[in-house]
Amino acid sequence: MPALSRRTVIKGAAAATGLPLLPGAASASRVPVTREEHRVVVIGSGFGDGVTALRLAQARMPVHVLERGISWPTGPNAETFPHPTAPDKRIFWLGSEPNLFGLVSFPFERYTGLLERVPGNGMDIMCAAGVDGGSLIYQGMTLQPTEEVFNANFPEQLDYARMDQVYYPRVASMLRIATAPDELIASPAYAAARVFARNARAAGHLVEKIPMPIDWSYALRELKGEMKQSYTNGDRAFGVNNGGKHSVDVTYLAAAEATGHCTVATLHNVTDVAVAPVGRWLIHVDRIDTGGVVLEKKVLTANALVMAAGTANTTKLLMRAGATGGIPDLPDGLGTNWGSNGDQICTWTSLADDLGSPQGGPVIYGSEEWVDPALANTVIQAFLPPLPNLRTTMLVGYGVSAGRGHFVYDAAKDDAVLQWPGSADAKLARRIHKRITDIGGAAAVKLNTTTLVPSTWHPLGGASMGTVCDLAGRVLGHRGLYVLDGALMPGHRRVQPVHDHRRHRRTGPGRDRRPGRGRCLLRRPMNRTVVLSPSRRCSPAPGHHPHPATTKKPATTIAPSP
Ligand SMILES: Cc1cc2nc3c(=O)[nH]c(=O)nc-3n(C[C@H](O)[C@H](O)[C@H](O)COP(=O)(O)OP(=O)(O)OC[C@H]3O[C@@H](n4cnc5c(N)ncnc54)[C@H](O)[C@@H]3O)c2cc1C
Repeated sequence: MPALSRRTVIKGAAAATGLPLLPGAASASRVPVTREEHRVVVIGSGFGDGVTALRLAQARMPVHVLERGISWPTGPNAETFPHPTAPDKRIFWLGSEPNLFGLVSFPFERYTGLLERVPGNGMDIMCAAGVDGGSLIYQGMTLQPTEEVFNANFPEQLDYARMDQVYYPRVASMLRIATAPDELIASPAYAAARVFARNARAAGHLVEKIPMPIDWSYALRELKGEMKQSYTNGDRAFGVNNGGKHSVDVTYLAAAEATGHCTVATLHNVTDVAVAPVGRWLIHVDRIDTGGVVLEKKVLTANALVMAAGTANTTKLLMRAGATGGIPDLPDGLGTNWGSNGDQICTWTSLADDLGSPQGGPVIYGSEEWVDPALANTVIQAFLPPLPNLRTTMLVGYGVSAGRGHFVYDAAKDDAVLQWPGSADAKLARRIHKRITDIGGAAAVKLNTTTLVPSTWHPLGGASMGTVCDLAGRVLGHRGLYVLDGALMPGHRRVQPVHDHRRHRRTGPGRDRRPGRGRCLLRRPMNRTVVLSPSRRCSPAPGHHPHPATTKKPATTIAPSP
């Protein structure tokens, strides 16, 4: 499919092709340049990308996925992921590791590792790097909002009934979500989960098992000694070596590649995007090695470009393109309406109960409080890595918050940086900490790590539907340019399925790129196409954000993935 037309040094290539030299390309010399032509290019291989790639490939649309990181294959007893008790270079993405007040640095060589810390003013974003995106390292909590929470936080044109009947079940089926079996929970490694559930109920809070994209038989087999521990000893903080997690690479992406219409290029780091003549798109890519050395520069041209590099990197790429003139006239709302999902991460040391060690995971129980859609929140118990028994575990809360941040382009750094008002999540944080105190009980010591190091694992927004894109992810005023990842969300949720619709089968990238001509299946009945004008802000007022609710159907009724 790719047509390799020439190899030369970059300046020569730019002169020969008439392509503009973009900022990321200008610094290189003596690096070969390759040109390629594609129908559809998708940036990233996470949730947004996986779903997009599969639906396009099923429609026989050739789709080329660019992923900056490497593949992380798993299987029983694999040693793919680093161990939290023996850290190594695989943890952090090329030089993005945190350093403590500029004093203590990460003592390992640069590597195309799993986690990128994206520093902001007032809040850092933690995101994943590698084939699979966030599902590489995420816990896997797969929650469906109630109708009230959904309607309070998503544009009214999105029909909850259709989401409930079609899209949430489709995702649940694809990810084969299931809750932990009682046999596992009764085992010694899950003492912390049992104490959490008992205390939360005693304090009058709702407790439910959290649906996860996990084949729990792996954990049971670990207990029987049939494979090394990963689920059952808290060793999986950076990924489950044994497998059994139905992540994007083994579900959506694998199915997309199996069609023969999807290719995935790893170690392809997109540096810039720009509009090309006659309505096409230019994508500048560094092909790198695992130490980050640029081996080749690629200039791709595509009929359609899908931005799915995750909330931070999609927003940054688009804002740079806007600021440097690569894509003129991007919508004014770009970089705004960003939410942290209200993350609050605490340690909980119990003086009353032995929470056990090692601690199994990833997540068994959660306590949901969603009656008020404007302050809906969830508190879950997670695990500690395999350490001596400290009578300590992790409690994590998140939910709906009025807090909003925005990105500002800094010309000196040639980067867009998040600006986060420090107290933006204060109301939600107070509510979560009240509930954590209830659950921990009087004889408990809590440490709020979010106060010490403000950060989120669940960033949302930046190129939101209703302000920057329409409900189908089309960037307003820019035919053939799409945002289909967390950046599209209106600030808050825990909902991937908004990406999982059949829109692309008929009108997706590369087909009908005329504004307003694509038919979005995420709409109200009667075939009324939903296309919002830039001036119509369809996301609700700040403070209204979707939040997960439990899946309504027992996991056992969910069909296996295709
Ligand atoms: C530790 C952790 C735990 C989490 N737990 C949960 C959970 O339990 N439940 C839940 O719902 N969510 C959880 N999340 C959040 C969830 O993982 C994200 O919301 C989700 O992955 C976002 O999907 P996305 O498509 O927006 O982007 P991602 O999944 O982040 O995918 C973006 C992809 O783009 C690639 N990319 C970025 N920049 C470039 C570039 N310039 N060139 C090429 N490729 C690029 C990245 O490498 C990545 O593969 C967790 C996240 C973390 C970090």
